[in-house]
Amino acid sequence: MKDDSNSFKELASLVVQKLSNYLKESQAGNGLVLKQLPANDLAKKLNLESIIENGLSDTKATENFVDTYLDNSQHMHHPNYIGHQVSVPHPSASIADLIHGLINNPMAIYEMGPSAAVIEKTVVHWMLKKIGWFKGDSICDFDIEKAKGGGVLTHGGSLANLTALVAARSKASPEAWVEGNPKDLVVLAPASAHYCISRSLSIMGMGERSLVALEVNALDQLKVDAIESVIIEQVNKGKKIMCLVANACITSTGLYDAIDQIADLCNKYNIWFHVDAAHGASALLSDDHKHFLKGIEKADSMIWDTHKMLRTSTLCAAVLFKDHQNMDRAFKQKGSYIFHEKESPGFDLISNTVECTKAGLGTKLFWSLAAEGEKGLANFVKNQYNKSKEFYKYINDQEDFSCLNVPEANIICFEYLSDNKGDDLQLKIRNKIVLRGKFYITSAEVNNKRYLRLSIMNPLTQLRHIEDLLNEIRFIASS
Ligand SMILES: *Cc1c(COP(=O)(O)O)cnc(C)c1O
Repeated sequence: MKDDSNSFKELASLVVQKLSNYLKESQAGNGLVLKQLPANDLAKKLNLESIIENGLSDTKATENFVDTYLDNSQHMHHPNYIGHQVSVPHPSASIADLIHGLINNPMAIYEMGPSAAVIEKTVVHWMLKKIGWFKGDSICDFDIEKAKGGGVLTHGGSLANLTALVAARSKASPEAWVEGNPKDLVVLAPASAHYCISRSLSIMGMGERSLVALEVNALDQLKVDAIESVIIEQVNKGKKIMCLVANACITSTGLYDAIDQIADLCNKYNIWFHVDAAHGASALLSDDHKHFLKGIEKADSMIWDTHKMLRTSTLCAAVLFKDHQNMDRAFKQKGSYIFHEKESPGFDLISNTVECTKAGLGTKLFWSLAAEGEKGLANFVKNQYNKSKEFYKYINDQEDFSCLNVPEANIICFEYLSDNKGDDLQLKIRNKIVLRGKFYITSAEVNNKRYLRLSIMNPLTQLRHIEDLLNEIRFIASS
């Protein structure tokens, strides 16, 4: 294939045609959600070795490749996709990836992509405003002092959490950047915290042992009453609490920790409060559900994935700070080729990120917002949360099924009831469902017990799909 504009247009038209068809068929619920060939067979079918060596020979070969690729993909747009907490992207939001893929503006320094940089700042202000951390008159006011809060987009929530933890360390122990970690630093986090929290502490050289696990209830929520004694115990041991982490919502059950109460406790002891709201922050858009995040404005930092509930493709996450100075102090490094005085009409985000080169991530959220406006996204979140309650009720009303808890978000944990009490029954069912490919769901372990788990990410998933799913499970269990 040539690299001129005509060839691009031809290829793009062909691919867009195929993608439109893929979207139509998936949305109609035709075909399987997922077909998993053995890796070797798939590589052969995709003709990978030959294409890598010689390139795609002609249009026919290109068509074959795209067809095979799409056929062997996870069909997120299929209403029976009820699996991981990953966006079913708004088709219009995919345009961001197309534009970025061609113009490639890594905008962490303003001059490498002014439009993308301005868009990132603006959508970050939009997010800060939802939390109550933006004080400017307009989200397009870039006077940093007026903003008060600050934030930056990262390639994913794990990186966003790492960034927040580094910022918290810079506050608690400014000397750590140069001298290394003092031995007395600890982080308090629920035992149910996402694994990336403990992984971050290891990456930061603090070691897993610096994480003090806070007690959770049988549904993985922080036991608020048990926190204060741990704080006192750690202080008495001579430990310095770098920050306390809470979930909004918890990955397993989708329940929210008591943000308001925990924030007050952190305030009382002057502890940095970080909220991992990767999935659940989007409830801020829904008047019916934002109460789950009550008190969020009292936190010091939080993260918010747009590739979960804001209908963008992977990856786009925000790490947000109540006080922008805490963000500005997080990284204390200089690189002479980038961090030098220059006359620029914009701003450089590079000093606030782990990444050096960074994609124009703000454009993903922008195109998602641009699809139907803020109201469209708000309605989406509201509908998914409300629908999940309806699905929960239906499942729990069945004699042969039982749900773990009333959902707060769009995550449902449940089990198939059977005389076969083996703990691996739910896992066996889940694995069979996925191999058969008519549905895609996950499982989770809560309180040492395995459950089937649904994340209602797809706007097209309706009660009838849940009914079909339960019948699929009954069929699998009886065969
Ligand atoms: C998804 C999730 C993460 C990880 O985010 P990635 O974008 O997958 O890196 C962290 N914490 C919570 C609570 C999550 O739901």
